[in-house]
Amino acid sequence: MIDTNEFRQYGHRFVEWIAEYYENIEKFPVKSQVKPREIYEQLPASPPDKRESIDTIFEDFVNIVLPGMTHWQSPDFFAYFPANTSFPSILAEMLTAALGAQCMKWETSPAAAELEEVVMKWLIRLTGLPESFSGVIQDSASTSTLCALLSARERASNYQVNNKGFYHEKFRIYCSTEAHSSVEKAVKIAGIGKENLVKIGVDENFSILPDQLERSISEDKKNGFQPLCVVAAIGTTSSTAVDPLLPVGLICKKHKLWLHVDAAFAGSALILPEYRKMIEGIENVDSFVFNPHKWLFTNFDCSAYFVKDKDALVRTFHIMPEYLITTTQGEKNDYCDWGIPLGRRFRALKLWFVLRNFGRSGLQEILARHISLTKKLKRIIEGNKNYEILAPVFFNLICFRYLPENEDNEKNINAFNEQLLEEINASGKLYLSHTRLRDKFTLRVMIAQTYVKETHVMKAWEVINNIAVALDAKRKDFVSEH
Ligand code: PLP
Repeated sequence: MIDTNEFRQYGHRFVEWIAEYYENIEKFPVKSQVKPREIYEQLPASPPDKRESIDTIFEDFVNIVLPGMTHWQSPDFFAYFPANTSFPSILAEMLTAALGAQCMKWETSPAAAELEEVVMKWLIRLTGLPESFSGVIQDSASTSTLCALLSARERASNYQVNNKGFYHEKFRIYCSTEAHSSVEKAVKIAGIGKENLVKIGVDENFSILPDQLERSISEDKKNGFQPLCVVAAIGTTSSTAVDPLLPVGLICKKHKLWLHVDAAFAGSALILPEYRKMIEGIENVDSFVFNPHKWLFTNFDCSAYFVKDKDALVRTFHIMPEYLITTTQGEKNDYCDWGIPLGRRFRALKLWFVLRNFGRSGLQEILARHISLTKKLKRIIEGNKNYEILAPVFFNLICFRYLPENEDNEKNINAFNEQLLEEINASGKLYLSHTRLRDKFTLRVMIAQTYVKETHVMKAWEVINNIAVALDAKRKDFVSEH
């Protein structure tokens, strides 16, 4: 085992390495270029019998592991939604790892529980969510949405599914066709059944159609189902569409349904006052999730889950074997009763560091910069007749495709854009991901990296356009030769 002196030496070296990594991050291919099994085959099948030095392990990290990593913190990363971080968050994670505390209950680390309560309140104040909400940090939006469905299920069954298991309820859950797959996953895990997830159509902006929702709920009731919960989205994964909370909330109120809001990515935008109109109707929302680990510069994992009725949440998850009873039982926040796992990392610390080190104005500045860079790129794409924008741009995501010259066959246009995406990512110069909107293969540019600047966005555009034009020229040559 290494002692504190060696730890100190390696610690300094690792911090040096991390700083250099960030200084040189743009030199790595953004998307790892390794082939399947390339890493696996370089690793021994069994663990070592004798101890190995940190030097040896670190050398393998650099030579074997690093080439197989995609550089999510690169300012040339424009794929998916980000899992962004920042230096204050990394520093706090070092302290969390050093403390190695298991923060399941107030007593097992009072500061962790109380800091969590404070930072959740701070997030409420930053985002304009209702002061009456209670917040807890979960590992992911998927878990938060599962917690919402389980709480809704328990409240509606008077906590009898927890007691007796499923017996006669025929629950129904509603979301739009654009909702994230984590809703379907949660419906499966919660025992409600995938067939009881009703997907409601969307309008031209990819937002849920409240009239269709109302009709579906009424029909289901007539047919003996028990409508349970609506999951509305603020910022869908494909195109960051926003569901209208006000009419959806009124429908939920009328039919006594739980309303959960999945704002996993775009919830952070509420820190900008001009986005607050998205939560008009929040008074009818029962639970709300957004991920500081997506667009709030806080290391994965950190998902902020808020509920209106804390007791429904705690009643759903509370369990008390003798070995977990403490003298402060019921008086303090024992967060193991606010979600699925018993054991909990000290996640509030990194969020506390981030919120303090950036401050409200610092957070607003970066989010606004991302949005303004996006608007700038959107104008460039719009101004080029070879491209088509495929969804409204609400935040910092542009959904678009290239239109090959003299080509109107949708299948061929899709195939072209698929090939374009592959070539862009194989260049290693930037990383984009895709979706499908109204059956159109869609490229997504997401501008949300902590340290992204205008130069990165302009370089990305140049690379995209150069590859697209070259690919189209090749295609035209091929067509004319055949
Ligand atoms: N909801 C939305 C809208 C998402 O885009 C995502 C992931 O990108 C999720 C939920 C799932 O997030 P997590 O990875 O935190 O479970």
